[in-house]
Amino acid sequence: MTALADRIARLIAAGGPLSVADYMALCLADPEHGYYMTREPFGTAGDFTTAPEVSQMFGELVGVWLYAAWQADGRPAAPVIAEIGPGRGTLMKDVLRTLARLDPALIEAARFALVETSPRLVAVQRATLAGAAATPQWVATPAALPAGPLFLVGNELFDALPVRQYVKTGAGWRERVVALDEAGALCFRAGPGAPDPALLPPGAAAAPPGAIAEIAPARSALMAAIAERIAAAGGAALFFDYGHLEPGLGDTLQALREHAHDDPLAHPGAADLTAHVDFAALAAEACRAGLEARLMSQADFLLGMGLAERAGRLGAGRTPDEQARLAGEVERLAGAAAMGTLFKALIVHRPGRVLAP
Ligand code: SAH
Repeated sequence: MTALADRIARLIAAGGPLSVADYMALCLADPEHGYYMTREPFGTAGDFTTAPEVSQMFGELVGVWLYAAWQADGRPAAPVIAEIGPGRGTLMKDVLRTLARLDPALIEAARFALVETSPRLVAVQRATLAGAAATPQWVATPAALPAGPLFLVGNELFDALPVRQYVKTGAGWRERVVALDEAGALCFRAGPGAPDPALLPPGAAAAPPGAIAEIAPARSALMAAIAERIAAAGGAALFFDYGHLEPGLGDTLQALREHAHDDPLAHPGAADLTAHVDFAALAAEACRAGLEARLMSQADFLLGMGLAERAGRLGAGRTPDEQARLAGEVERLAGAAAMGTLFKALIVHRPGRVLAP
């Protein structure tokens, strides 16, 4: 049992079952035992590998996109170029190197910022970015970003924010909760709370008993805050995550530990816990704030931004081994069997700006 499992069991014994969202929030963000507060999740030694850790080309193409977005927004004089949920800081490092090459004057004119909630990861990011072309400032929420037009990127951020789950019972939809079984172990149950049916995905009314539905108010609220800022101050944002373009039913809560699937209740705080991102819901939130949203697969985004050409240029004159490594990175980022189709890109921008590749 992890220390957090013990604490969660005591919380439930004292106060009753937790919503799946509260359970996820404790597992990921508890200041003492939360996964992102205590662990080194990334890379071969961690629990999963993210796109910026797969290849420098990911951050380079994001840097080119940020540059194009700044140009399409009218080259505002003092932009804020930011990342939310930066992990080890690798993506921002590759973005800064790319922007410094494209336009040294922009590096001088822009303010760079990282939005990160984990003090431990802030320290890791500081180390990664020591010696980069610009020194970013760190903030804990988008509201604390410096004022000005905002050009923002986030990779695998929304999947780390909690979802609520509902389960169809004989008596209708009920909130799915984490409770204690007779042996005192964590288990899923149907709780007493019933959702507003208008919030459930299409097909919910006709779903059979046992069906699961997910909604993510924390993700919607974060997207709304970012979109309202961009609508008011200018800018654009780009998000990558794994998830679906069409809302639907299904249990997508999953735990990853040491690169293998784990029972989501087995190792609270010691396994990464995520749920697929409902991109239609995020896009709708951006549109409500007055922005336009474009959705595509990660493969379409990266190939449209010139991934194959970038790999060709990096590989020119290199050994066959190095060329094979680059080809492997292209395959992992954009291949249909790897991240290319499961991962999606969401671009939000002010109406009339054309920012998709
Ligand atoms: N983008 C990185 C890391 C993804 S993991 C990569 O691709 O490798 C998720 C990251 O989001 C972690 O850095 C985590 O600490 C951070 N995070 C989680 N919730 C957050 C929130 N509400 N605001 C900002 N960052 C958050």
